[in-house]
Amino acid sequence: MKSFMKIVSFSMLSFFSALPGSAAVLAASDHYDPTHGVYFSPGLNREANGQSTDRPGLWQEAEIFWRLAFLNSSNTPPCNLPVQRPRWSTFLQNDGTDRFVWFGHSTILMHLSGQTVMIDPVFGLASPFSWLFPRWQPSPASRASLPAIDTILISHNHFDHLEEDTARFFSNKKAHYVVPSGLAEQLTEWGVPADHITELDWYQTWEHEGIRYTTVPAQHISGRGLTDTNKTLWAGWVIETPEKRYFYSGDTGYSRHFSEIRKRFGPFSLAFIENGQYDPKWADDHMSPAQTVQAAADAGAEAFVPVHWGAYAMAFHKWNDPVRDSTALAEQRNIKEITPVMGDVFTAASQGSHWWERCSKP
Ligand SMILES: [Zn+2]
Ligand SMILES: [Zn+2]
Repeated sequence: MKSFMKIVSFSMLSFFSALPGSAAVLAASDHYDPTHGVYFSPGLNREANGQSTDRPGLWQEAEIFWRLAFLNSSNTPPCNLPVQRPRWSTFLQNDGTDRFVWFGHSTILMHLSGQTVMIDPVFGLASPFSWLFPRWQPSPASRASLPAIDTILISHNHFDHLEEDTARFFSNKKAHYVVPSGLAEQLTEWGVPADHITELDWYQTWEHEGIRYTTVPAQHISGRGLTDTNKTLWAGWVIETPEKRYFYSGDTGYSRHFSEIRKRFGPFSLAFIENGQYDPKWADDHMSPAQTVQAAADAGAEAFVPVHWGAYAMAFHKWNDPVRDSTALAEQRNIKEITPVMGDVFTAASQGSHWWERCSKP
């Protein structure tokens, strides 16, 4: 989600404290400008220096914010969505099969080779205020009901991917955070011990218990407050077990980076790819369903799960437009898409169902 983050940068949240990025002095790279201390997406160089040449102006942003915050109720589900309370005994079986649970939006839990890995854990707030982008219905499981988590991967610091309450919950647990460059400072402010955090630049790797985690490029932006636009990095993740390879896109616009990731790491047994909260006004930062399906093909995904939908209305499309369109396109192209019910335990061999069709406005 990006437009909101840009809007708060302008004026509305002037009481926000600045959240500086990493204090480390970083060398210039194809995605970091040390002069201004900001990251940018290669190929989208207008993002460099925090400048934007073609993004909506202040009043346009304010108008978008107003419509998103107050006039967007028609884009939420007209019924309670089906959810499954996760069956942890199934999830935690050590029988050589990797298992997954989708909690809605981009929160994913994995059980890989005996390790529990959580991606972008957000259980409640996806914004700084309870009235803004409220979750449609509770998460299928509470934080307290989760099995012990070994590793937490964060894609970037937007509110719908990095939740303060969740970070504080895990701050006294054993979970080790692996995060893109610049995010450790925020986590330590919330009480996560520094030795429980590893920061990685794109294509850097952290290994634990035989699983290799690599930060890979995404085309996006970052920021939570007034003065931290693009001061921390955003990323996707490649996860390699001794037997399998998995890919999570993070938040991203469509670009050639998916093909590059396939060349370096693919193909993948399963990919989790952003599919939702898109709009022509922020097409650089989020993908349409057609681009999501193309990204799955580019990345060499044997199957993909569309994520970044199902819990919050942060764009103007209807709540189930992303999955309805990605499903039709994937079927046309004979690309396997898995659409699990939130909370259900699934594997790369699962199918999922068209459960979102049962909750559609005519
Ligand atoms: Zn997002
Ligand atoms: Zn984002």
